[in-house]
Amino acid sequence: MSKPKIVQAGSLVLRAAAAPVPPSEITSRDMKQVVKKMVEVMRAAPGVGLAAPQIGVGLQVIVLEDDNSRMARLTKEQREERGRAPFPLTVVFNPTLRTVGEGRATFFEGCLSVAGYMALVERHLAVELSGYDEKGEPFSREVRGWPARILQHEVDHLAGTLYIDRMISRTFCCNDEMGARWLDTPVAEVLQAFGVTRA
Ligand code: ZN
Repeated sequence: MSKPKIVQAGSLVLRAAAAPVPPSEITSRDMKQVVKKMVEVMRAAPGVGLAAPQIGVGLQVIVLEDDNSRMARLTKEQREERGRAPFPLTVVFNPTLRTVGEGRATFFEGCLSVAGYMALVERHLAVELSGYDEKGEPFSREVRGWPARILQHEVDHLAGTLYIDRMISRTFCCNDEMGARWLDTPVAEVLQAFGVTRA
């Protein structure tokens, strides 16, 4: 089976605001199909998150999941620094985020819809996620560390925003360069090397 197609930057579905899903329709057959496809596409990529517009569906649905295989290239220290820990498959309809605390962190981030590149992006360290689960039940929970970054990235997709709109643009890298030179370099050194001056 070939890899499923992921909508790439340039397609307007990635730049449109996605529509909320009426809670009464969350458990419908159609929605189950959308979620099933999103999970398949995310796992096949592989990625740690996906928003419905990335499979061409303009609805407010996101999925996220992280496990040891997807963070295999990171050392124990790098995982701790990023707050990266396994996160079970989570499906959220109509997600909204509220920032928790003042903490922010800057790390390299990529997107399956901007294939082949990464850049440093500053994100909030902790967010409160509200939305509906797969059963159509409303819920709210606090999320910290890397999963909080994934959530901010995916919820941005639903507003038609890509990480390239938020990145520190001088640090934009091809994946090959990123892996060869910058993956193990402390962020402060990367910023200096790319000539980024920050207030
Ligand atoms: Zn993305």
